Order: sequence, then C-alpha cells, then structure tokens
Amino acid sequence: MANLPSVPAGDDLPIVVIAGRPNVGKSTLFNRLVGRRQALVADTPGVTRDRKEAEAVVRGRRVRLIDTAGLEEAAPDTLYGRMRASSESAVAQADLVVFCIDARAGITPADTHFAAWIRRQGRPVLLVANKAEGRQGAAAAMEAFALGLGTPLAISAEHGEGLSELMGEIADRMPPEAPPEPVEPVEYGEDGEELDERPPGPLRLAIVGRPNAGKSTLLNRLLGEERMITGPEPGLTRDSVTVLLHDEHGPIQLVDTAGLRRRARVEDGLEKMSTSATIEALKMAEVVVLVLDATLGVHEQDLQIARLIEREGRCCVLALNKWDAVEDRIATRQAISDRIETSLAQMRGIPVVSFSALTGANVQKLLPVVRRAHEVWNKRVPTGALNRWFEMMLERHSPPLVSGRRLKLRYMTQAKARPPTFILFGTRAELLPEDYQRYLVNGLREEFDLPGTPIRLLLRGTR
Ligand code: GDP
Ligand code: GDP
Repeated sequence: MANLPSVPAGDDLPIVVIAGRPNVGKSTLFNRLVGRRQALVADTPGVTRDRKEAEAVVRGRRVRLIDTAGLEEAAPDTLYGRMRASSESAVAQADLVVFCIDARAGITPADTHFAAWIRRQGRPVLLVANKAEGRQGAAAAMEAFALGLGTPLAISAEHGEGLSELMGEIADRMPPEAPPEPVEPVEYGEDGEELDERPPGPLRLAIVGRPNAGKSTLLNRLLGEERMITGPEPGLTRDSVTVLLHDEHGPIQLVDTAGLRRRARVEDGLEKMSTSATIEALKMAEVVVLVLDATLGVHEQDLQIARLIEREGRCCVLALNKWDAVEDRIATRQAISDRIETSLAQMRGIPVVSFSALTGANVQKLLPVVRRAHEVWNKRVPTGALNRWFEMMLERHSPPLVSGRRLKLRYMTQAKARPPTFILFGTRAELLPEDYQRYLVNGLREEFDLPGTPIRLLLRGTR
C-alpha cells in the first residue's frame, strides 16, 4: 500500500499498530511500550474520537505507536464490524501490525475472524500472545499458531515479561533507517532512566546442592568473608534479604539466600535437603550453581537436583567444591564428567568448574562461567540459519517412517529463549519419534553452540 499521509508532516516515523479484539491487553501493552514518554498522545481528526498515538523508542529507534483499543464503542454494528472499523485506517498505514491475543482465554472466534482480516491487509504482522505470565503461559501462547500469523511471541504486558524480546522483534521488522542518524541522547530521559526497554536487571543466581556440599562457604566466599552471618545466634538472620554481587558485567542477585542461611544453621547431618525449597530457589533463578562435594563424587541426589533444574528450564553450572581435598584430580574430574555425560544426556555440555570454597582457590572462575551459561540460555538463533541447518539435517538422515508413511518435516523456528525453545512444523510432526528428536536437539546444540542449557523442541503437526 502506498504511503498514506496520516501523521503530522515532517514526521516520517515508522508506524506500529497494536490490534486485536477488545480486552486482550492492547492498552496495557501500549502504555508499557510508550513508558513514561506519553506526552505525545494526539487526536487524529476525522478518523476517530480518541485514537491513541504516541512516540515510542524501541531499541533506540523512534516509532509511532498506535493503539486501536477503545475505538470499538465508537463504531456501530457487530463486534467484528467495530474491530474492523477501528483498525482499518490504522492498519492500512502500518509498517508493522502487532496483533494481540489473550493467551489465557485461548483463541476465540473473534481472534480467528480478525486475524483472517488482518492477514488479507497484507501488512507485516507480529503475533503476540499476551497474559502469558508464568510457565503455563508460554504453552498456551503456542495455540496461537493456528491463526496463521507466524510464531506467537509470549509476553505479559502487565507483568513486564517478554517485553525486551518483543522490542527486539519490533525493531527487527522496522524499515531500514535512512539517513542513518545517530540516536539522539534525548531519547534517554534526563536522569538516564530506561525509556526504550526494561533495564537488563541483575542476573538471578541460585546456589543449590546437598547438605554439606559447601554452599554457605561458597556464598561467604563470593560475598567476602564478613558479609554473611552463619553463626547460630538467633535473631541475627532476617528472612528476606536481597544479596547482590557485582562483577565486571554488572550485578548478580543471589536468590533464596535466606533459605540457604536458615539451612546452613542446622547442625551437620540433621538437615534434610528439601526438594520443595530447592524448587522454590530454582523458580526464582536464571542460572543455578549446583554445588557438589567433589571428594564424594556424584551422588544420585545430585543428579536428581540437576534433573529438577532441567525440568524447570534453568541453566545449570556444576561446581566441584572441596577441590583442595581431592587427591587424584585428573581421575576425579574424569569420573565425574563420565557420570554426568551418561546420566544427564539432556544437558549435554554442562559447564563444570572446580574450586575450593574453603581456601578460595579458583572460586574466581565461577562467575565468568555463570555469565557464559546465561548467555547461552538467552541465545536466539536466526530463522534463516536455523532452516539451512535443518535442511542439511534432513538430508543427512531422512525422518523415519511412522506406520508406513514418511513424516514431512517442513521448517523450524525458535519460539523463545530462556531456555532456547524451538518449534518444528510438518505434516504429522507430532508423531516424530524420540530418537529423531534427540538427533535434532543434539545437532542444535553443536551447530548453534548451546552447551549445557535445556533445549525444548515442540512439535506442531500441520495439515
Ligand atoms: P484492551 O481492551 O485490549 O486495550 O485491553 P486492556 O489493556 O484494557 O486490558 C484488559 C484487561 O486485561 C485489563 O484488566 C488488564 O489489566 C488485563 N491485562 C493486560 N495485560 C495483562 C497481562 O499481561 N496479564 C494479565 N493477567 N492481565 C492483563
Ligand atoms: P552447606 O551445607 O552446603 O551450606 O555446606 P557448608 O558451607 O556449611 O560446608 C560444609 C562443610 O564443608 C563445612 O565444614 C565446610 O568447612 C566444609 N567445606 C566447605 N567448602 C570446602 C572446601 O572447599 N574444602 C574443604 N576441604 N572443605 C570445605
């Protein structure tokens, strides 16, 4: 569609339109994206009463954001008619339509109807599944594939989840900037506040492991000797503490340190590792350091904790503590690596660090490994490269026959990061046998350098 004169002269910002049926969270998202820079809400005479527009900065790029919410009441007719009327002129000018659905409600007939209409408009569309907070959210979001508008991006506008990813996706779809002007400092507010996206925030780290593995000693070591009180005096510890560490990349927040402190006070031998406490810590964390007493080798309970970490989709760093007390280091390292490789195949390449929390030797190696693991967990693989690799994998080994018929696998896309989650589309793809899934997951790990992190592969059968 040709450029319709729609915005004030001299303003040639790319236009991003937020569309979707009423109540999916469009206004909430609009406010989130605009942040505090809501000064520019303007009427567009002759179009609608109160079309909400504002300038937003997305990854350093200025865009004009249009919220189509609240316009439905203005138009008569059916719900569909109202949605269409409210969006028609906005969508016609859009450089990008952000089409929202409500992941909690699932796909409604109104979504389907509206999506079909949006598709016919021929504008670039980014599908967003809002209200997808929490773990069930992402799964529910995947239902939105059925709309035929591409891979849904799970977000929660209200809770601020997935917004950074969303802004990346929006920025990627903006027309090239011409002429290439440097981003003006004015975009960043007087006191350096975030305006274009949430500040990265501290990396959230949990330290877990069996009793006596050396978790408290490690924590003390990381914090500097004096900072943590491990003594038995009652009343000295408080339950909710935020413990921040800093390395050269910024802050790291230690989660569940209160629980760690409580447990650390219990006398040796009496303490039972509580699975629920570990799970609580895992849920709050991004990276989990699993501390092992290296003099004892790998215990079944260590593997159980590692599997919990995998199940929760967190990335894991294995810390071999008490290295000072290990006699044959080469043999010990080998034995532990072998055990891990055979017992934790789903986390192949898990990073391992050995140190002595007691003496402090090599403890400084831990945080760089944590940072690297975090990067891997956050990684996004471009769809082009992914599918070139995928075709090569299909050529190397054809997908197996299932009840006499060959599965037709079509393409893959990365639905999300944290942990890396891929979706595989194809006719009857949902029937893909596990060994072929493993072949693909192991291949992904190697090709795209994803060691140690959990990788999710979702199968989507198409007709
Ligand atoms: P609109 O009609 O599409 O503009 O929707 P609103 O932005 O007015 O939101 C509709 C309702 O959904 C409000 O009650 C919001 O508080 C709620 N909402 C918006 N975003 C989220 C979200 O991410 N999670 C949840 N649980 N509720 C949300
Ligand atoms: P937690 O139960 O996992 O918090 O373990 P603690 O930090 O309380 O440590 C349990 C015991 O192991 C204590 O007696 C520590 O002194 C000892 N310990 C911790 N780290 C090391 C280490 O690196 N080397 C040695 N030799 N002992 C350690």
